[in-house]
Amino acid sequence: MAGELHLVVNGRRALARVAPRLAGDTVMVPARAAVESCGGTVEYLPGPPARVVIMLGGSRSEAVVGENQATAGTRLVPLPAPPVIVEDTMLVPAEVLRPLGIEVEVAEPARACLCGCRDSRLRGRRIFLDPGHGGSDPGAIGPGGTREAAVTLDVAQQTARLLGMAGAVTSLSRTSDRKVSLERRLAAAETRRTEVFLSIHANSFTDQRARGTETYYYETWESQKLASAVQQELVEELGLADRGVKEASYYVLRHARMPACLTELAFLSSPDEEALLADAWFRLRAALALFRGIRTFMDSAAARLA
Ligand SMILES: [Zn+2]
Repeated sequence: MAGELHLVVNGRRALARVAPRLAGDTVMVPARAAVESCGGTVEYLPGPPARVVIMLGGSRSEAVVGENQATAGTRLVPLPAPPVIVEDTMLVPAEVLRPLGIEVEVAEPARACLCGCRDSRLRGRRIFLDPGHGGSDPGAIGPGGTREAAVTLDVAQQTARLLGMAGAVTSLSRTSDRKVSLERRLAAAETRRTEVFLSIHANSFTDQRARGTETYYYETWESQKLASAVQQELVEELGLADRGVKEASYYVLRHARMPACLTELAFLSSPDEEALLADAWFRLRAALALFRGIRTFMDSAAARLA
């Protein structure tokens, strides 16, 4: 159906029998799939009129099928479109979920509906994302012309968006196609008192048959742990060959004074993997994996400090 979107909840692809969709400018979200992944409950009351009662973290929203307003606690919330039932699934506009602390955003061109809630593992944590290359340095260029610098920037920006929805404080070494020296990238991370440094790249090799995902760290146990968490999520999410976690003395890893890793998502020199990297939904899935890897690492780091 036209207007259907992929559903992402809390950094994971979520299965919903009925996909989220755009109705004009309004995002209609399958209530149960979005809310339950955030730890809330959805009660469907068949009516008539059919209603949905959503509870999350002590907050309550209620919406009625066909009505242009909902209630959040005792407050009335005007809705741009009424909730509808499609194949036994209640779709509600994002405005019903926001008062409960569930942010809803549409990621274009990946055509994904991102639902996220604050996450205690990430809230206030300072994370630095470093999209490799840029400007006069395009990085690797695939046989079809895909440029590494464009791939890394998009993946970094999507990752930052997911982290931001969860409450993390993210910074990027660049937000446009421009050249930034490695020294300046690290200096920016230091200035922002970054807790984690993640450099994003795409691989290249003379043999087009080389393929898969690999992640690098340098020396410290903490960085190795970060690299492992990121690699594991990437392999699970993207399903490419697992080339493992490796130690290497790359400049940004060697000089980073915080846990740091550098990931090579896939091989731009492989025509198959280039086609994947050129696809916006695949890049968003890479961002989901990076988000989850960082979240896992932060959780273990927090547990260690406690
Ligand atoms: Zn690179």
